[in-house]
Amino acid sequence: MESMQIPLACVEVGGGSIQTVFFDNGSVRMLDGAHHPEDATLAIAVPGIIGEGIVTEATNLGWRNTDPVEALGLRGPATFVANDAEAAALGEAALRDGPPALVYIGIGTGIGGAVVRDGEVVRANLFGHNAAGYGHAFGTTRCRCGRVGCLETVAAGWALPDPIDVAHFAHLASCVASAIDRLDIASEGIVVIGGGIGRRYPVLIDLVAARLHRDVQPTAAPDDAKSAAAWGLRFALGRKRRTLAAGT
Ligand SMILES: [Zn+2]
Repeated sequence: MESMQIPLACVEVGGGSIQTVFFDNGSVRMLDGAHHPEDATLAIAVPGIIGEGIVTEATNLGWRNTDPVEALGLRGPATFVANDAEAAALGEAALRDGPPALVYIGIGTGIGGAVVRDGEVVRANLFGHNAAGYGHAFGTTRCRCGRVGCLETVAAGWALPDPIDVAHFAHLASCVASAIDRLDIASEGIVVIGGGIGRRYPVLIDLVAARLHRDVQPTAAPDDAKSAAAWGLRFALGRKRRTLAAGT
């Protein structure tokens, strides 16, 4: 993988915690909280809808039309702001040296997902909420987003007991599997289950794999990283630079 010349600070904002991953000359360091050293390029991953560097909506953070640099008290500016699941999906692909297709679902405080094909995000804002015509599939509970029956109401950290008791796993896995199964383009490639809950309960990986009859893998991110999002941000920025360097 190509390493960046300029130090890069990737801030990953989660529902429960924030982490900064520093890439500098081949070394990787992780720090709790949001940091932007003076000489580093800044990239931010947020669990929400992003537009032009602004977080249009992040239900689990209570952010709406929020400038993440300002909200996090960072020096800024940010060179790149991305949805966390898109960044994580790109990162999972980059850390695996680019499988042809990859479906990512991050299950933590909230749920996010994306599909990456040939190094590009081809589907985003998946799984967590019923916005994309999933219908009221997962019960009748009102979601934090205001809709009814979103996958988050049965499978997100905010909706589940902590710790999750064993009796919950089968239902959780079948809901996650059916959400993935319903994706019309997801029949190819590997499935990666990440996020805090995906990490903490590896049994989910096997249960979902058994239901989907597909290759389901845990995250390829290092153990102490929140997710692969930082690697995805680095990949996306590297590509942007190469495109600029190639000129038009
Ligand atoms: Zn919802």
